[in-house]
Amino acid sequence: MSTIEAPVSGTSETEIVPAGGRWSRRLETGDRLRITDLEGQQAVDFLCYGADLPLDRMNLPNTIKVNKSLYVTKGSRIYSDLARVLMTVEEDSCGYHDTLAGCCSNESNKLRYDVDTTASCRSNFIAELAKWAIGPSEIVPNINFFMRVPFREDGHVVISDGISKPGDHVVLKAERPVLAVLSNCPQVHNPAAGLKPTPIEVTVVRA
Ligand SMILES: [Zn+2]
Repeated sequence: MSTIEAPVSGTSETEIVPAGGRWSRRLETGDRLRITDLEGQQAVDFLCYGADLPLDRMNLPNTIKVNKSLYVTKGSRIYSDLARVLMTVEEDSCGYHDTLAGCCSNESNKLRYDVDTTASCRSNFIAELAKWAIGPSEIVPNINFFMRVPFREDGHVVISDGISKPGDHVVLKAERPVLAVLSNCPQVHNPAAGLKPTPIEVTVVRA
């Protein structure tokens, strides 16, 4: 990959990411990223990378181990391959965000639902990461904000109806320069997006 260049800075920017859309920004230390589930039950697939080189990727096993939690919520720290804190969850009005199910893909939709999908979070990630010269092999297991994947003591997991309400939001603080990447999940074959993908709002507040 090439060096990730800083974007034009500003104090605050807000945009609506349409149903099935994607988004990415470089964030500097102390910048805040606010993600709002405008209509509720909308999974937002999230990747995060250290913005400096060599590429240091979000690492969910490290995140789970250090936070001692299989889900992400207020106070959770997001750790990297090198066990550095990339971001901290400062606010969370929902209370539960998945670390288990990863992203939907054209291939897994074919396997699980026998459909020839063209829209998926993996396709979104591939397209969005290409803007930053990051290839598909650098896509790692991701956090799914506002997605409910309950787990039982016997190990059983299933994608369930989300519990996020219209207007639920998370605020993530960048603890170092990072690249944040979102896919507003287009899935219609399971309840990840309430079977009806909807828009989200994304705000960056510069430190
Ligand atoms: Zn998805």
